[in-house]
Amino acid sequence: MKHVSHAYVIEGDQSESVNAFAKTLNCLEEGETACGGCISCRVFDSGNHPDTLYVVGTKSSSIGVDDVRSQVVTQMATKPFYYKYKVFIIDKAETLTPAAQNALLKTIEEPASYGVFLLLTNQIEAMLDTVLSRCVVIKQKSFSEIGAGPIEDNPEMQALSSEIIGTAYGMDIITAMNLYKSFEPYKESKESAQALLDMLYTGYGQKMRETQSPRALNAVKAITHAKRTLSQNGNFQLAIELMLLKISGHIPDRVRSNRL
Ligand SMILES: [Zn+2]
Repeated sequence: MKHVSHAYVIEGDQSESVNAFAKTLNCLEEGETACGGCISCRVFDSGNHPDTLYVVGTKSSSIGVDDVRSQVVTQMATKPFYYKYKVFIIDKAETLTPAAQNALLKTIEEPASYGVFLLLTNQIEAMLDTVLSRCVVIKQKSFSEIGAGPIEDNPEMQALSSEIIGTAYGMDIITAMNLYKSFEPYKESKESAQALLDMLYTGYGQKMRETQSPRALNAVKAITHAKRTLSQNGNFQLAIELMLLKISGHIPDRVRSNRL
């Protein structure tokens, strides 16, 4: 699998997707989804994968600093038992005490090349900002986009695309810039990001044909530009923010003529 980050915070009830992702990470076929047939996949299904570690609270309902030290820090010091990644899954990450989160932070800040953290939570506000800032934060329902699954007909992308097409023009700058956050879940997957931009492109293209609107034409140009930047591995955030500013009308596609 391409584009693997070291740490993810995943919001919502997505343990199934998270397990599928963990399985895929160590699948010997190294495809975009787990093959299900290799030794790694089969051991994973048996529930005894040596390089998939579930971090749990041993003394109470919360996960304490000692738990993190014994189940993460110590484990991280040794290489994977056999497979490519050592995957740490922390369910109910909001139950990590602040001290435990700080202990975890040190490991996330200087990750071993083989370490991957998957933190699941329903209360993202209980996570320290310092931890969140080091993690790729995946909003509810979009996690499966990273690992696998069909990109077409993705309802979340459709909703975002319709929202932008319906509301972006004339939006104030701050609101337009804040729209970037909705794009963040797609940052790690080039395919997903391009699929989302394709959806926007199609929507604005249709609008342009129906209304002959110069705004829609500007949007189409802005999206084309963003698509090109991303395909050339340009900065994701800059590309998207620039596109949003153009679509909302804050940056003209070219210098505006004084004539109406
Ligand atoms: Zn496999």
